[in-house]
Amino acid sequence: MTDCLFCRIARKEIPARIVAETDEYLAFHDVSPQAPTHVLVIPKAHVASLDGVTDPLVAGRVALLAAEVARSLGVAASGYRVVMNTGADGGQSVPHLHAHLLAGRAMQWPPG
Ligand code: AMP
Repeated sequence: MTDCLFCRIARKEIPARIVAETDEYLAFHDVSPQAPTHVLVIPKAHVASLDGVTDPLVAGRVALLAAEVARSLGVAASGYRVVMNTGADGGQSVPHLHAHLLAGRAMQWPPG
């Protein structure tokens, strides 16, 4: 999708602090971190949200890349949270599927 922010990051048209990349997926630091570690994991192919995912492999690959990044950044042992905000009530602001990997502090529940 031409104008999509995360599509443009995936195409390297907008800079990002990339932490992991495959042919089809990308992980990069969130520009406005909400925890000491805050990384976004996206598929490079555009899909607006979890609600638009039809291939279970896409959701699985995003989740497992988040887990892989958590291990590579040394936060897996202390724990982390993976969140996919979906739609308006879910708090999604960028309409390109992404998982937030949050770590480095104790998370609260309920999340608000
Ligand atoms: P959400 O609100 O769940 O859609 O999450 C979107 C996330 O994208 C927010 O946490 C933003 O801080 C983050 N974000 C927006 N623009 C950029 C950018 N250019 N590079 C990295 N992260 C971004």
